[in-house]
Amino acid sequence: MPNNQSQNYTGHFAPSPTGPVHFGTLIAAVGSYLQAKKNNGAWLIRIEDVDVTRKIEGADVDILNTLEAFGFEWQGDIVYQSERSEYYQQALDQLITQSLVFPCICSRKQLAESNSDVYPGSCRDRNLPEKNQHALRLQAKDISIKFNDTVMGAQSQNIKQQCGDFIIRRRDNLFAYQLAVVVDDALQNITEIVRGADLLDSTARQIYLQQLLHYPTPDYCHLPLAIDATGNKISKSEGAAKIDINNKEKSLISALNFLGQQAPAELVKSNINDIWKWAIDNWDIDQVPKTKGSQI
Ligand code: GLU
Repeated sequence: MPNNQSQNYTGHFAPSPTGPVHFGTLIAAVGSYLQAKKNNGAWLIRIEDVDVTRKIEGADVDILNTLEAFGFEWQGDIVYQSERSEYYQQALDQLITQSLVFPCICSRKQLAESNSDVYPGSCRDRNLPEKNQHALRLQAKDISIKFNDTVMGAQSQNIKQQCGDFIIRRRDNLFAYQLAVVVDDALQNITEIVRGADLLDSTARQIYLQQLLHYPTPDYCHLPLAIDATGNKISKSEGAAKIDINNKEKSLISALNFLGQQAPAELVKSNINDIWKWAIDNWDIDQVPKTKGSQI
């Protein structure tokens, strides 16, 4: 039988609309796009605006316009997390049915005073009534989640010891990122998540949620982050420089080189379509540096 696996590949790019596309966003877009193309797969776009408090008005349109100017082609309708609360609520209800969810009234100050990297479990056995102004946490079981990241290799995290009971609905009633992405990844049938290495640490919690919700676990592929001269991740919300679409050929080649693809020097003279052609033909995930961050 022919191996049809690659035809079923579905990847995605999931920007939060917290600012314009900068070099770090471009890297995640390029890496996820080329990995989907190389696998003859679909590439979907999801606007991760579940945290509406961080949303910048118009940033979604700006991001999409920039992607279009670069020549990215995506499939299907763009999904907005802010419109999907009913799905997140259904997943939350499933977890509540399993008696794994508890309200938490701990303040940030109390948690800071606990001197623990993980939630100390203070509210777990308090049997507080579920009220809208309470955060909801998911009980962390004492299990180790192991996965093999496409770039970063073998990973393992004990949910109870290293993550602790984590928030799945915030006290302002917004669903937490961890729950929303797990629901969306499953409903969109994403087969490989390609994203920045800042989310490597979230992956075990997401797999834990997938297991509890009986969802399949996709493959994970974390790309190195672009780090600025001060050693910090460049980020939209910190006002990183917007990608100049008048100079997109140069930016795309820089992104390819950042991802270890060694674009030939003469490619700078090519137009954007030819650069994409070279990139798709030559994309090699094994060349991506196995490091969480590289200075640009
Ligand atoms: N929305 C996240 C961000 O913009 C990325 C999440 C993902 O790629 O899965 O940082």
